[in-house]
Amino acid sequence: MKLLRHGAAGAEKPGLLHSDGTIRDLSGQVGDLSGATLDPAELTRLAALDADSLPVVEGDPRLGPPIAGTGKFICIGLNYADHAAESGMDVPSEPVIFMKATSAICGPNDPILIPRGSTKTDWEVELAVVIGKRAKYVSEADAMGHVAGFTVANDVSERSFQAERAGQWTKGKSCDNFGQIGPWLVTPDEIADQQDLRMWLTVNGKTMQDGSTRTMVYQVPFLIHYLSQFMTLHPGDVISTGTPPGVGLGMKPPQYLKPGDVVELGIYGLGQQRQEVVADA
Ligand code: ZN
Repeated sequence: MKLLRHGAAGAEKPGLLHSDGTIRDLSGQVGDLSGATLDPAELTRLAALDADSLPVVEGDPRLGPPIAGTGKFICIGLNYADHAAESGMDVPSEPVIFMKATSAICGPNDPILIPRGSTKTDWEVELAVVIGKRAKYVSEADAMGHVAGFTVANDVSERSFQAERAGQWTKGKSCDNFGQIGPWLVTPDEIADQQDLRMWLTVNGKTMQDGSTRTMVYQVPFLIHYLSQFMTLHPGDVISTGTPPGVGLGMKPPQYLKPGDVVELGIYGLGQQRQEVVADA
């Protein structure tokens, strides 16, 4: 099942992508797609609906993030060995965790806003995991039972704010529209192996990132287990699992985004995103 939210920002309605390619509205079935409606029983109920009988959403609506009300947006840093190398960092001996402000979350095709004072706005295609069932002290073996689904995230990053100013990474990761999520929340039954997904990103049509979740250092079950030792994961929480090589910081010389650029990214089986780059007002 490919769940989505369609409509204007802040007024999205729940829906799904039907196998015939149409968007079908779920407003009559569920209030919204959020932590409260991602539990396994509810997802089973939605999966059992006859999609042919659901109303078609006409036109080409804006998509929002596929889940509303995310409580935590947790990111894993340096989780691909070759990306750590291009960043001039060692592979960490335990996962590097940082938080992205949830106010950065936006729809998959919403613009990337270059914040005031930025000179180093960068891209990061990532596999994002959405929690569906509360997870506290879970074992690696049980971890995947807490997952509602997978989606694509762009962990947009301002490298100067992140690393050249004092303190931690959060302020280089949390600007408005620094967290495109979507297009769909894809339930685990549609993904044969989340550790074998090809992922890519282009800037103005030129391939920058072309990797696979196969080379992730700390894989998804371990990450859920690990995070749940330090904090309770709640339904609707998003874990963005790190980026493969090919970010602007790693180019020689480094290359960063400017107004007018177009970024496209995707993960096979999870859909794709397209963002225009504009200066924030
Ligand atoms: Zn990242």
